[in-house]
Amino acid sequence: MHTLCVYCGSRLGSDPAFAAAAGELGSICARKGIDIVYGGGRAGLMGTLAEAALAAGGRVIGIIPQFMEGLELAHPGLTRLEVVNTMHERKHRMATLADAFVALPGGIGTLEELAEILAWRQLALHHKPVGLLNTNGFYAPLLHFLNSMGSSDFLPSAMVSELQVAPSAEELLQRLG
Ligand code: AMP
Repeated sequence: MHTLCVYCGSRLGSDPAFAAAAGELGSICARKGIDIVYGGGRAGLMGTLAEAALAAGGRVIGIIPQFMEGLELAHPGLTRLEVVNTMHERKHRMATLADAFVALPGGIGTLEELAEILAWRQLALHHKPVGLLNTNGFYAPLLHFLNSMGSSDFLPSAMVSELQVAPSAEELLQRLG
């Protein structure tokens, strides 16, 4: 894997384990020579991830829409910051650059990005692996819902079985190959 796309919260969340996991993923990627592509923000887990990777000598590419850059939400010290016109363009660019995708804990923005990349995989628009970093069981309710979609025959069972889920960054990266 050369480039990993990371979706995560623009807030830190209530459990300090979330920021610890984001930092751990950032530094492990740097150590393994894996570039990170993410939304380019400096707040929350997004900022924690970027700072940890940069501090460990890694490369971090941010893709941010113009309106967010104008609000000074971008991280100022990234290896490369690409400013795009729209949110849709941002997600498309992130997906193009990445070889694999992971979602860390986050809110509705993270959920939307994860759902889109899974939907694109279902439509065979890409065949890249997708993983969930299930820090302290954060994603258990979503996994339960996805399984329920499967048993209700709305989701191919492969969509759930192919989703890589791990409690730690190290294990998740191993599963993504
Ligand atoms: P959320 O999971 O709702 O915190 O959203 C994370 C995603 O929302 C990011 O990938 C961005 O698309 C976007 N986003 C929301 N707030 C910010 C912010 N302050 N800075 C950068 N991106 C943000």
